[in-house]
Amino acid sequence: MSTAEGVIRFELDHVNADLHSIKVSEIDAWRCLFKQVGIIGRFDDRYDGYGFGNLSQRTGGGFLISGTQTGSKATTVLKDYAEVTDWNAKLNAITSRGTIKPSSESLTHAVIYELRNEVEYVFHVHSPEIWKAAADLNIPITDPDIPYGTPEMAQAVRRRVSEAELPGVLSMGGHEDGIIGYGRTASETGLLLMRCLVDAIGVLRR
Ligand SMILES: [Zn+2]
Repeated sequence: MSTAEGVIRFELDHVNADLHSIKVSEIDAWRCLFKQVGIIGRFDDRYDGYGFGNLSQRTGGGFLISGTQTGSKATTVLKDYAEVTDWNAKLNAITSRGTIKPSSESLTHAVIYELRNEVEYVFHVHSPEIWKAAADLNIPITDPDIPYGTPEMAQAVRRRVSEAELPGVLSMGGHEDGIIGYGRTASETGLLLMRCLVDAIGVLRR
């Protein structure tokens, strides 16, 4: 079974519909920065050329998440996102709407929103540095035997996020370079990830 990014494994019930009245300028600005530092995007020499990383924000009806394989876009607008309106973590099932299908890692985002009412943003990035230095930085790490995009990963995330301080960060042991940040604002979530990246670079240079 491939563990490559972009392989959709979940049960998706998607309605093709235009989304309206949801601002994505802030999430897009963070995405732009993450692309510049190489922790989100798409490169021929990383992960077999699959796009990687996805950002989400809570909405009135669920949460908005970047669409599948939008990694190479320089900037994003609302039509590059899907709104996830319902989910079932046990069945790995997602219900969504939009003009693009949601990221294959939507369920991991969903369990965080479900668990923590205060969380408004979840940013999933791929950072070799943070991932390698996670233990040194005291970042919680999920079991390396649990692959991404599975109900088991959702359960592992749930365990580590339920009582964590906000903003929080998590390393996905079974998903190479996979890091998740979550928080009450886009700024606190994004800045925590940047802080972790700087600290990780420092640790790895020791
Ligand atoms: Zn990933």
